[in-house]
Amino acid sequence: MTLLSNLTPLLKDAKAAGYAVGSFNVFNMESLLGFIDAAVETQSPLVVAIAESHLPYLDLESFMPMALELARRAPMPVALHFDHARSLQIIERALHAGFSSVMCDGYQLPYETRVEETRLVVRLAHAIGVSVETELGHVVRLGGSEGVLESGELADPAVAHDFVQRTGVDVLAVAVGSTHSMTAPEAGLDLERLKQIAQSSDSYLSLHGGSGISVSHLRAAIGIGVSKVSVFTKLANTALTQARKYLDKHEDVNLPDMCLEIRGGFRTAVVEQIERLGSAGHA
Ligand SMILES: [Zn+2]
Repeated sequence: MTLLSNLTPLLKDAKAAGYAVGSFNVFNMESLLGFIDAAVETQSPLVVAIAESHLPYLDLESFMPMALELARRAPMPVALHFDHARSLQIIERALHAGFSSVMCDGYQLPYETRVEETRLVVRLAHAIGVSVETELGHVVRLGGSEGVLESGELADPAVAHDFVQRTGVDVLAVAVGSTHSMTAPEAGLDLERLKQIAQSSDSYLSLHGGSGISVSHLRAAIGIGVSKVSVFTKLANTALTQARKYLDKHEDVNLPDMCLEIRGGFRTAVVEQIERLGSAGHA
């Protein structure tokens, strides 16, 4: 039995030891169980994330008691992270539901409004021991489009410094080349920019769009100070492939058994990511 952790102790240990903690998005029971199976197998700390965009697939308030119970029973530190919240209302809902960490988006807001809103989120969250992540630059493409980021969408080191100073945010998700839904390392990370951000801001740094980052760039980013990496697309694709193989092999499909296959697919995919991030054995 371990206590539910917020991000800070997990990322502090990761940064000190030179690895990154994986943040993996769950949207049902099979994904949740598969991720925890993988963390137990590899003895790795884990961030279980639920994104606002996945709320149509689960009932948050009835799903959370199960996630909290599994996180507390797990033999390694687990943080429950609400990912990519797009409004203050949904952040309040996440805090009420028991998450130990929240992430707010909001790049579409004017800068000063963002600073004000983020300060408020930090105040509400820190009062109950919850950590706060926010993004700088566009790790989510406007309109959900894919592709290589243009320079105007990347995080600005000077803005990073100002933003962290004024908001007190714990983790900064920096846009330095990777975006959601990328499956191949089509865009290299702007490591020079990442270095400047690491030097100029006191917060922990995270990367999103982890499926599309090559191992060499991932290792370099971790070396510079990235301590949390979010991955979803690769996990979903691996579980889907495993389900397809199961369907091809079995004429009479037993649906509960196929759900076990999907859980196994998520486990396999997360074990692979944990190896990439170097967090195995650090629970
Ligand atoms: Zn993300």
